[in-house]
Amino acid sequence: MKTRIEICKICGLCYGAQRALDLTIEQAKNRKNVVLFKQLLHNKYTVDKLLSLGVSQKDKLEDITNKDFVILRAHGEEKSTYNYLKSHQINFLDCTCPNVLNIIKHVYIKNAEGYKILIIGKYGKESGQMHPEVKAIAGWCENPILIEDADDINKITSDNKKYFLVIQTTFPQEKSKIIINEIKLKLTKLKKTFDMVDTTCQAQLMIKKQSLELAKKVDIMLVIGGSNSSNTRELYYLLKKVCPTFFVETKEDIYNLIKQKKVISGQYIGLTAGASTTKEEIINIKKILDAL
Ligand code: SF4
Repeated sequence: MKTRIEICKICGLCYGAQRALDLTIEQAKNRKNVVLFKQLLHNKYTVDKLLSLGVSQKDKLEDITNKDFVILRAHGEEKSTYNYLKSHQINFLDCTCPNVLNIIKHVYIKNAEGYKILIIGKYGKESGQMHPEVKAIAGWCENPILIEDADDINKITSDNKKYFLVIQTTFPQEKSKIIINEIKLKLTKLKKTFDMVDTTCQAQLMIKKQSLELAKKVDIMLVIGGSNSSNTRELYYLLKKVCPTFFVETKEDIYNLIKQKKVISGQYIGLTAGASTTKEEIINIKKILDAL
């Protein structure tokens, strides 16, 4: 039987990540000393490509000088980062995704109106590392309450009159729905004012939806992307429940899967990728599979 390979209809770089990448490449072509403040995308392939264009990366604000032209990534940044750059007369380009900017705007306004901010997001309870977007959002309000699971709802006390909730754009929707219901119950019991805006990103929801459809039809699924990408890992765990699924970060990973006979000739193979994976990477993996 002939090997069949199908690429998911919606997968790979979301518009926020694509925008950040395009803007960075444009700057790299037109000026020197372009510096990424931390990894632009959670994807080594893309970062290596940018480094090959002469772009460098600095992870600490103190290492940046006013000779640098700084790129702020799509995940967003805390208010203190902007303050630092401005006070040190450092030029920068803000590539924060418009969806994240929208959350920051809401949080900033509601905080000023006296609301206690609740953020549903991965603050490191499970992974030990706070997601950069959560860190950015938290940096625009005073002592927000960070919630990663239902247990964290215990952190909500009756100290404040009104609460405002936002959600990390890539937080799993099935989990956030449960948490939101419990928060509403608790705040109703406490007779508190509650308001929220659903800030779950539709782009990554569409990738999940289309990938699930594909996973139901194929023999195996390959999820392409960086192992440090939260949304790519989510996608992998989701699809694993539906059919045999393998994570592919590099070309070596796919060669290993072929060697281990997990990927074999004659299979119907589905390819998908997280929101920080470029089309080029997907095509590179497909080319290897085409030779099966
Ligand atoms: S996943 Fe959504 S919120 Fe995050 S960068 Fe992409 S478009 Fe923006």
